[in-house]
Amino acid sequence: MIKCTNCIGDRLFNSKNSKYCYDATNLEDCCYITNSDFIKDSYDVNFFIKSERCYEGLSLPNSYNTFFSIVCWDNRDVYYSDHCFDSSNLFGCIGMRKSSYCVLNKQYKPEEYNQLLEKIIGHMKSTGEWGEFFPVKLSPFGYNESTAPDYFPLTKEEAVKGGFRWAGRTSGLFGKETITWDRIPQQIDKVDDSIVKEILICEKCKKNFRILLQELNFYRKIRIPLPRHCPDCRHGERLAKRNPRKLWPRKCQCAGEKSENSVYQNTAKHSHGNNSCTNEFETSYSPDRKEIVYCESCYNSEIV
Ligand SMILES: [Zn+2]
Ligand SMILES: [Zn+2]
Ligand SMILES: [Zn+2]
Repeated sequence: MIKCTNCIGDRLFNSKNSKYCYDATNLEDCCYITNSDFIKDSYDVNFFIKSERCYEGLSLPNSYNTFFSIVCWDNRDVYYSDHCFDSSNLFGCIGMRKSSYCVLNKQYKPEEYNQLLEKIIGHMKSTGEWGEFFPVKLSPFGYNESTAPDYFPLTKEEAVKGGFRWAGRTSGLFGKETITWDRIPQQIDKVDDSIVKEILICEKCKKNFRILLQELNFYRKIRIPLPRHCPDCRHGERLAKRNPRKLWPRKCQCAGEKSENSVYQNTAKHSHGNNSCTNEFETSYSPDRKEIVYCESCYNSEIV
């Protein structure tokens, strides 16, 4: 976390008063936000930019007061809607543009809309449906087709038990490779342009993939060999280098003059002197990892 005040999470920048947020910048008074920028007073949202007062949504850029919605851009006062743009006062709408005061894509007068909204919300509260995102049974995708396993891997049994669908067929092409790796030079400057016409095979999952000419030129420019893993496997490998979106409560491992395992010798005097630091915090480094984890104060004493 860089330039953050009163924040809990990981990979957060320029943010304040935000808890359990990951991969986000410029947050203020937020909770459970991921992959977002310039967000205020919002909760449980993923992929949004320059939005305020949003709750439970996916991809809600430039939105205000937007709730339980998915891919709704440049809106205000929108509930339970999907793919609606430049609109306001929508409930349960899909595919609307420049619209307002609509329920289930039907236009109402503002006073009718407000009465209807009150009635629908009242009914949903009585059935317990109000206040939650669309139920998973409405998802057209299997759990294993979504990006959820990148962060929360589940077995098929666990996913089905949790009410998710599971796609029976893995996407992608298999067994159609036109060349094998033993015929491809390891040195990039020996690889011919004709490689872009070939179908390659991933050494890890056996899925077929191709190399684009621009990609080939990039590898030549930075002088690295062709990737032997498919784009999906490479994506997984990049994610594995990051800490998980999970926090563990831990105690500072500074023992005064050195780390408690004696591996690191402190270079500066800390505010707690030669006694062990007693600060506790949450961190994305799990207790079984080998890295030494210091509290912010001890860390800053060493590096600032
Ligand atoms: Zn692969
Ligand atoms: Zn400490
Ligand atoms: Zn210390």
